[in-house]
Amino acid sequence: MNKCQECGRNDNFNYCKPCNSVHFRNNFIHWTSGDSNLDKLIQNSQLNATIRLDIIEWIEYSNLENIELIAHGGFGSVYKAIWKDGPIVRGQAWDLNKSEWKRENKEEVAVKKFQNVTIFSSDFLNEVNSNLKMNNKNGGFETIRIYGVTRDPQNGEYAIVTEFKNGGNLRKMIKENYSNLTWENILEILNRISEGLDSVHESKCYHKDLHSGNILNKIYSDNTIGGSVISDFGLCCPMDQSSTDKTLYGSVRK
Ligand SMILES: [Zn+2]
Repeated sequence: MNKCQECGRNDNFNYCKPCNSVHFRNNFIHWTSGDSNLDKLIQNSQLNATIRLDIIEWIEYSNLENIELIAHGGFGSVYKAIWKDGPIVRGQAWDLNKSEWKRENKEEVAVKKFQNVTIFSSDFLNEVNSNLKMNNKNGGFETIRIYGVTRDPQNGEYAIVTEFKNGGNLRKMIKENYSNLTWENILEILNRISEGLDSVHESKCYHKDLHSGNILNKIYSDNTIGGSVISDFGLCCPMDQSSTDKTLYGSVRK
């Protein structure tokens, strides 16, 4: 057990829920998504978090730079960007001297913009909520890690901000790296897909839209391939809930 540097209580893997929830609460007056349901979802994640993966944040659009289109899909478009502040660091994250979060700075992220989602949308909230649930289920390892939500002030469209996987989707990655793929890579990718699906099902949810366009991969600096994650939780729903009325958007194409 570690002790929180701020209050001296034992904390959970360096995350002190009582202290951190106060810091988040004190900041609620400084931001709003413009939608009370979305505000509530973000605020609840921050008040109830017991590890940093439980947190999503409202990310000001002005905090994103070098925004670059990477793919169009039926739902909208996916961009790559730099999140200037970056996510809150692991461990003792509150800077006692500066009274602010310590952050990782300049994180490469994916920004998934939803066309015409400019007002409250239950589908949008569902995607944010399901993605967040997966974050804390598997430690953000086998499903795409969500960082938060933003909104483009130019057209008012909401967007989900997640980690960025430079290898792209499975279809694209295999096409471009066929000669580099080893059996070890293939087995690792398959293993992570099955672990990711296992997490979804353990959360008593169905993904309902799993295909090669929704498996994202990483290519490391030495050209090895890995870090595969399941993404796109737009149709994800609890096992006891029908989603037959939902529209299938199809896969993302470059
Ligand atoms: Zn504390």
